[in-house]
Amino acid sequence: MKIKILETPIFHIDGGAYFGVVPKIIWQKKYPADENNMCKAACRSLLVVDEKRVVLIDTGIGDKPEEENEDLYFTDYSENLIQNLANAGFSPNDITDVVLTHLHFDHCGGCFYMDKNTNSYKLYFKNARHYVNIKQWENAMTPNYREKSSYHHEKLISLQNEGLLVLIDEEFKLTENIELRIFNGHTPGLMLPVIFSEKNTLFFTGDLIPAMASIPLAWISAYDLFPLTSIEEKKNILNEAAEKNWIFIYQHDFYNVASYLNKTDRGIRAGNTIEKSEIEDL
Ligand SMILES: [Zn+2]
Repeated sequence: MKIKILETPIFHIDGGAYFGVVPKIIWQKKYPADENNMCKAACRSLLVVDEKRVVLIDTGIGDKPEEENEDLYFTDYSENLIQNLANAGFSPNDITDVVLTHLHFDHCGGCFYMDKNTNSYKLYFKNARHYVNIKQWENAMTPNYREKSSYHHEKLISLQNEGLLVLIDEEFKLTENIELRIFNGHTPGLMLPVIFSEKNTLFFTGDLIPAMASIPLAWISAYDLFPLTSIEEKKNILNEAAEKNWIFIYQHDFYNVASYLNKTDRGIRAGNTIEKSEIEDL
């Protein structure tokens, strides 16, 4: 098995939204913000090569739009998924499976490019099945008022039009060593992978635990639709992870890529951090 972190464009999240009801006076000790209260957020993809399967987990924000209205997220496009994939030795056609943890724009936008001939969105990963939880798909197709702007309908429809969408209704093993778990607090049908490498078990925390600072139970993002569900889900996964010595990979944490966990008197907390370059050897 080979595991590689691929960076994609980074964006900025309002600190209050990032850490929910936690007061700034507390969260700013754990995560820096600029003078506008904006926090840098990574949008990491994970590449997992398991036997003959080349699996990409999430694809980030995607290409810079030709015409853009005001970008409230101050997106920095200097990291590019396709380029970073090439640096890792793979072309888009090599990808056999794309797992979309959910369909918010910062998790699936990198699947699509604008085809100027037809003026429509096409898929980069033409040989890949694209896995989405059915509850998430339905939620995205008939979005509630709160999440509406997080879904780019025109792009999502191309998944269906190109016949590469696979809807998942329960937890399952994607490959021998990748298991997909389902969560419903952030948004219905969030799918997060547990990856069993030769030496370790890794959990890609996605939007359930977006940053290392988000580990304490009350630190729930204001974007979560059902915060009490998120707390319960977080508690369960933290207990299991600490028990089994899993490593967490943080998708949105600009400063910390991954860490071990520690049981403390105050609950489960982050342990030693792990550098990006070390992930491949885990
Ligand atoms: Zn999200």
